[in-house]
Amino acid sequence: MTADCLFCKIVAGDIPSTEVYRDDRVMAFEDISPSAPQHVLVVPVAHITFLRTADESHESLIGHMALVADRIAAERGVQSSGFRLTINQGPDSGQAVDHLHLHMTGGRKLGPIA
Ligand code: AMP
Ligand code: ZN
Repeated sequence: MTADCLFCKIVAGDIPSTEVYRDDRVMAFEDISPSAPQHVLVVPVAHITFLRTADESHESLIGHMALVADRIAAERGVQSSGFRLTINQGPDSGQAVDHLHLHMTGGRKLGPIA
């Protein structure tokens, strides 16, 4: 856990969230300000600040995040209609929380990626 990291606090249960899934490596919870009818965040339990600070030792973890997001999309009935996985990285992306996270959005027609 990294002090003053919002998502570390959510993982630890110090800040409430609507938990969707948890295992020893990742946790998923509802985005507090959803941009689509389905908007879930999948985060590593152990703090990683950015994709750019991840390394080869995190390859399996990052793949696991994608598969967990896919399973959640399936559970929510948007796997066949379609969904999007997004990782924001750095200022130009609008990344607001410096704890690696994967957005799963779906449940409506998603526009082109800006
Ligand atoms: P990003 O812009 O990629 O850093 O995304 C951060 C996401 O975290 C945004 O979609 C926010 O709505 C979401 N968020 C911020 N605070 C919370 C919170 N307390 N619980 C759940 N989601 C949050
Ligand atoms: Zn963190």
